[in-house]
Amino acid sequence: MSRSYRIAVVPGDGIGKETTPEGLRVLDAAARRFGFDLQLKHYDWSCETYSRTGRMMPEDGIDQLRDSDSVFLGAVGWPGVPDHVSLWGLLIPIRREFDQYISLRPCKLMPGAKTPLANRTPAEIDFYVVRENTEGEYSSSGGRMFAGTEREFVTQDAVFTRKGVDRVMKYAFELARTRPRKKVTSATKSNGITFTMPYWDERFAEMAKAYPDITTDQFHIDILCAHFVQHPDWFDVVVGSNLFGDILSDLGPAVAGSIGIAPSANINPEKTAPSMFEPVHGSAPDIAGRYICNPVGQIWSGAMMLEHLGEKEAADCIVRCIEKMLAEGGPRTRDMGGQAATQDVGKALAEAVAAA
Ligand code: ATP
Ligand code: MG
Repeated sequence: MSRSYRIAVVPGDGIGKETTPEGLRVLDAAARRFGFDLQLKHYDWSCETYSRTGRMMPEDGIDQLRDSDSVFLGAVGWPGVPDHVSLWGLLIPIRREFDQYISLRPCKLMPGAKTPLANRTPAEIDFYVVRENTEGEYSSSGGRMFAGTEREFVTQDAVFTRKGVDRVMKYAFELARTRPRKKVTSATKSNGITFTMPYWDERFAEMAKAYPDITTDQFHIDILCAHFVQHPDWFDVVVGSNLFGDILSDLGPAVAGSIGIAPSANINPEKTAPSMFEPVHGSAPDIAGRYICNPVGQIWSGAMMLEHLGEKEAADCIVRCIEKMLAEGGPRTRDMGGQAATQDVGKALAEAVAAA
């Protein structure tokens, strides 16, 4: 029996419709080359669906996805549809219902990517940001008191559970074990936030005891951001709470260069429900419809999906082909200084994977 995976494909809006086919083209090449089978099911859920039906996805949308192994998403969002509609109508329910408590972003400088940092080589920027994706600072607990009066004030509670903190820490340490440098850095702010962050530090230290083979350190979030820019070579795996991880997971890919290249994953590590893989970029309305967008972020997200599904060899192969294509002057889209169409890049990578 060959290995077979059920993939729910949601191209979404704008350039998501252009990048997803290229992601699938390369996944298909990898499936043939490495001998597994992908059963695709397409869902046309998007802001367009919302304009037609008043919903981003059908009422039973989550249930339709539930028995797939992964969700492969393009981009969601379009001018005129408020962010809270596209986010809360599709992305957030998927993350929550499927308990995708890890948000994972590789920050790896690819050859030819436009890092804003001077004189940095690919070997010097190669780390992961691991963000806690379900609790912490983004809670729905809080409120407004004495509204409209001089005494008015608002509060928002940050809620950190032992289960929530420990599972993200564990994921970060396990990830570090698969990496040559075997190091985890924790983002904290225990000098200013005096209940939740000392607890975060405490659980980090506790988890570190179970991983004597992993080096650890920690920085306050403010100086950590500065280090991302000044000393990106310091980092291997960086773990942060929902808020700090949110900040770092935009800063990290920015440091690593072109927005069109960066991949991301929302992971349920225990595989009790599907995980979701999507490029970091959005729907890019300014360039949509012209097939000039870069599909590499989508294709790399596909590689992350294969790794999650257990096809590590195929995943590594795709990432190596991306690096090689960029290093050897293969087709490049405009954002990377080239002239190639979106499909040219997808075809070149699919061929490279087939021949690898
Ligand atoms: P979000 O949906 O996260 O709010 P955004 O609107 O902030 O996204 P994007 O849609 O990612 O941002 O676009 C930001 C800029 O980057 C735009 O100028 C867009 O054209 C460019 N861009 C984004 N993705 C790509 C890509 N794959 N290839 C080329 N350019 C891209
Ligand atoms: Mg946007």
